[in-house]
Amino acid sequence: MRALTQTFTFSCFIISIRISIRAFLLLPLIAVLAASMPAVECWTGEQLDEIRSIQGHVVAKDGLFSVTTSHYVVRSEIDARFTAELARYLELFDDQATSLLMLPAVAAPGMAVVTVFASQTDYQKSLGKATRSRGQFDWLYPDETSPARYTIRTYAANLRERDFRNFFRPIINHETTHYLLQLRAGRRHIPNLVHEGIATYVQAWDFFKPTSWNLANHCCEFAPNLRHAVDAQEVPSMSWLSQVSTWDVDDFGPQTNTRYACAESFIAYLLGDDSRKSFFKRLVTAATGGESLRGLFANGAGSVIEEDWRRCLFLSSEHRG
Ligand SMILES: [Zn+2]
Repeated sequence: MRALTQTFTFSCFIISIRISIRAFLLLPLIAVLAASMPAVECWTGEQLDEIRSIQGHVVAKDGLFSVTTSHYVVRSEIDARFTAELARYLELFDDQATSLLMLPAVAAPGMAVVTVFASQTDYQKSLGKATRSRGQFDWLYPDETSPARYTIRTYAANLRERDFRNFFRPIINHETTHYLLQLRAGRRHIPNLVHEGIATYVQAWDFFKPTSWNLANHCCEFAPNLRHAVDAQEVPSMSWLSQVSTWDVDDFGPQTNTRYACAESFIAYLLGDDSRKSFFKRLVTAATGGESLRGLFANGAGSVIEEDWRRCLFLSSEHRG
């Protein structure tokens, strides 16, 4: 999610990226979203039939329930029903997020293995470390010719979350957005301005509600950081933000949170109006294509849009008084 530890491991034959979300940074979001995110009684009758059908294909072995869908190998330690609902949700998410983000077709498909552990303890055991993260996305190329392996891991934080309707879907949205983007970038590095900005934007999206509702009710977890940056006139340029080599500079303290806030706010600005969506597409194409983003903001549409975004930020600040 936004607050994440990100580790790049480069060697001759192994390239991996790890993105984790720290629980303490998610807690405020959980509180906010709990009020706005409905339970999944929003499944339609047709989807419920599909879930029942998927459930019939879930295989249980050694305490792990698993089923394969079009794009995902879905696993959980919880039960067959949870696994089936998660599987249906992932396909729903994949379809709708791809459309929302106007992502191009994938050149080299690769399935993601998504695992929801029944407890934080089991999640940490799988990662081999006592992390406080809530979820993690990894991609790995085993060698120079093999396809990528994508994995997403998270866990049910309490007994209530073992019922999928109460599960914390923002973590699925965030990590799976990383997967959708990285799938299109292949081995290329995506600047965090785009990777984190988009994943953070999508995490709060309720895919059971229409776009109009989501646009009207969009909430930014880092709103306080953004307000502070505006008031202190410390909003970084998108060009600079697209080039920072280290994203987390203060252990997810105020500086890093300000980066999340600004990246997410800029992405929200681009997706908030049809007139700016062509630049969003250009930005994603450049970011997943390995282009430097610096030139996009130097002049032309990028420069004008960034200037307009800043004007909106500072206008809203003045109106706040
Ligand atoms: Zn992230």
